[in-house]
This record gives sequence, structure tokens and C-alpha cells, in this order.
Amino acid sequence: MSLYSDTELNQMGINSFEQMKKEMPISTDIDTNNFVHCVANAITKNVPKSAHQGEWEVVVFDSAQINAFALPGGKIGVYTGILNVTENQQQLAAIIGHEVGHVLEHHSNERLSASKVSNVGLAVAALALGTSDVDNKGMWIAGLGIGVQYGLIMPYSRAHESEADIVGQELMAHSGFDPKASIKLWQNMSKINKDAPPEFMSTHPANDTRIKQLSEHLSISNGFYLAQKKQGNVPQCVKPKVIPKPVSQKKDKK
Ligand SMILES: [Zn+2]
Repeated sequence: MSLYSDTELNQMGINSFEQMKKEMPISTDIDTNNFVHCVANAITKNVPKSAHQGEWEVVVFDSAQINAFALPGGKIGVYTGILNVTENQQQLAAIIGHEVGHVLEHHSNERLSASKVSNVGLAVAALALGTSDVDNKGMWIAGLGIGVQYGLIMPYSRAHESEADIVGQELMAHSGFDPKASIKLWQNMSKINKDAPPEFMSTHPANDTRIKQLSEHLSISNGFYLAQKKQGNVPQCVKPKVIPKPVSQKKDKK
């Protein structure tokens, strides 16, 4: 069920992203930015134009939170905190691929359309007009999958997570990243999970089902990766030895 047009969804994504850029500190560390942009650009090159026309905007938020997201309208946000979990370019590609997978599969549209809040439609209309003070704004922010930033958690369904995992793994492989890394990434995530679950984990549980499914799909994704490798299309994005700690954690709003 998809009630909203692509134009409406894109506008919601764009407006939310603009708001986040105003509210959250943005990393100015050159090496960190280069690394994230290098991985994200390699991925977005291979995203079908039907999902987004033109350039994707990629912003590195200076926050200790373990988080990343992609929004309709061609927006990607990566928090510096998640770079302490992703060991290398391949694992960051797995995260970005997964998040872009949610956009490709129109998950936010389905979530918002299925929302029981009757005036989400009004909120969407107001948003398209650029009105920022809207009742139930929280609902569409949560629906877009970025609610954790605002303390509104609306986890993706198992079916959505599973779709994003498969689409994301294939996308990273088509972009020249070794899809095996998606498994190591979620294993790393599950280790964090045991101590204090970061907010990202509440929307993206790193469970055995996920890891098993990613492992099973490897035989397909690996073929795409090997084809890229054969052509020498393998990104060389270097993770900086040190990811600077967020300068202004106090400004880091939820
Ligand atoms: Zn997800």
C-alpha cells in the first residue's frame, strides 16, 4: 500500500534532511568526510535513476550515536559514531547499501501509508508547502526511518529489513565491495547489542535470522562482486586511522 506520490515522499525526505542539518553538528574532518563520500558515491552511482534523479547528498553528522540513514529525495546521513563499528570501506558500504535499500523498496511510503494516524496525510500536504509546525510531524519522521534521532522509534518490519538486506548486499556487490563484509558487519553490531543497545539497534536488530539470510544470499551477490573485480572496478576508500570524537556532543539532540 503506497498512498503518497514520489514527489511528496521526496519532499518529506528533503525537508527532514534540511532540518537535521540545522539541528545536528556536521563533521568537518576532511579524512572522515573523504572516506564516507568515497564509499557513498561508489554506491549511489549504481542506484537506479528511477529511485532518484541526479546527485545524492551525503552528510557526515558529528555524533557519537551509532546511526546511518537514507531518505527519499537522494539524501544519505552517516554518523561518525557508526564509523567506530564499521572496520573498513566494505562494512560501511554494507550499511549504506542497506539504508539505500529501504529507499529503493519504498519502505517509508508503505509505513506512512499504513500509519493509523489519520492526519498524516495533512502533515504530508503541509510539508510539501514547507510548513514546519505540523501535528504528527513525529509520525512522518518515524515513518521515514529517522525517528530515533527524535526519540520516536518505529522499527522496520522483519519483511522490510529482510528486503533491505538483500537489495543492499546486491548493491554493494555491484559497486565493487565484497559482500561478505555484510556478515561481519552485523556480527560486529550484535556484539555491541549485548552491552548497551544503541538506538540504531532498536530499528535494526542484529539477529541470527538476518545473518543467516545474508550468508545464504552471498552466493548470488558474490557473482556480482567478482564481475566488478574482474573489470578492476574496486573502490579504494581508506578509513582514517582516527575518527575524531564529536566536538560538541552537547548540541547533539535526540
Ligand atoms: Zn533497515
